[in-house]
Amino acid sequence: MLKPGSTIGILGGGQLARMLACAGARLGLRSHVFSPVADDPAFEVCAARTIADYADEAALAAFAAAVDVVTYEFENVPSATAAFLDAHAPVRPNPRALALTQDRLVEKEFVRSLGVETAPFADVADEAGLARAAAALGLPSILKTRRFGYDGKGQKTLRDAADVAGARALLGAPCILEGFVPFAKEVSVVAARGADGEFRAYDLCENVHENHILALTVAPARIALGTAEQAVAIARRIAEAADYVGVIAVEMFVVEEAGGERLVVNEIAPRVHNSGHWTLDGAVTSQFEQHARAVAGLPLGSTRRHGARVEMRNLIGDEADRWREILGEEGACLHLYGKKETRPGRKMGHVTRVIPS
Ligand code: AMP
Repeated sequence: MLKPGSTIGILGGGQLARMLACAGARLGLRSHVFSPVADDPAFEVCAARTIADYADEAALAAFAAAVDVVTYEFENVPSATAAFLDAHAPVRPNPRALALTQDRLVEKEFVRSLGVETAPFADVADEAGLARAAAALGLPSILKTRRFGYDGKGQKTLRDAADVAGARALLGAPCILEGFVPFAKEVSVVAARGADGEFRAYDLCENVHENHILALTVAPARIALGTAEQAVAIARRIAEAADYVGVIAVEMFVVEEAGGERLVVNEIAPRVHNSGHWTLDGAVTSQFEQHARAVAGLPLGSTRRHGARVEMRNLIGDEADRWREILGEEGACLHLYGKKETRPGRKMGHVTRVIPS
């Protein structure tokens, strides 16, 4: 159990690291951010910084010596980096959990091994493999690179033979093909598992994507209570099987059928997650404080929601230029990430609204 004054090392310097560092600071925990990108948003708010490549072992060794625990804000931390650091300081969530979520094929096989449903999928190594997979799964289906995809990058929906033929560009990297899930809603469980195995979940939330990027999260999700309980039980099974410590997000599709609702796991994020940003103003303990507590070995905080409903809207690209208007809105909480350059599709900030009744 780390005491106030201890230091959390964070790999990655984006907005998630920034909000994690701010939440840690409230508990008297210092943050040391390690990122190769000198103008990353988290560097503005952390106590110590290392600007170096993730393969720089001298920099990693010095970083590990300066921190009490290591965590990360993104799942593409090279496995060699995680293994190197783990030999010097505890890495939480553990490197095995990280590896499980870095590769869509490994992740889906892991989820299936727990008896939890995923989209139908097939490993695709080359064009012949894609043709076989498309014949087996049918169209439409979605081709995704096994690694490094985010916000719709590294994936392509295949609707007809021309799309299959045009999908070659993605095949430079190993891929999987996923059968199309006719979902009614997308939801996610944001939860935490403590170092002592305690598990606490926030209310299941509902996510709306626009152009493959999360646009809106609403908590609680408008689905049957039993379905929400099942979703939390699935996230718990995943966290326990991975011996997970920290905040985890499990994205799921809700499929409506005659007998009721069915849950299909889409993706696991081994970190704080955009669909958990509503907790910053909408829950007793934010997901960022919860992650700091978990990786520091501290007791988890209450996940109780404030208000009847909480909304989180991302400010993408120039939507963040509306900051003045949002500041003037009663009940709106503005969060800006301090990114130097506005680009289309770039997450620049978000706004939360707690709806009391
Ligand atoms: P992902 O990068 O896997 O989170 O996918 C991004 C978004 O694409 C999801 O949030 C869904 O809206 C959509 N999507 C991904 N996979 C599927 C699938 N197998 N069936 C239907 N929609 C999907």
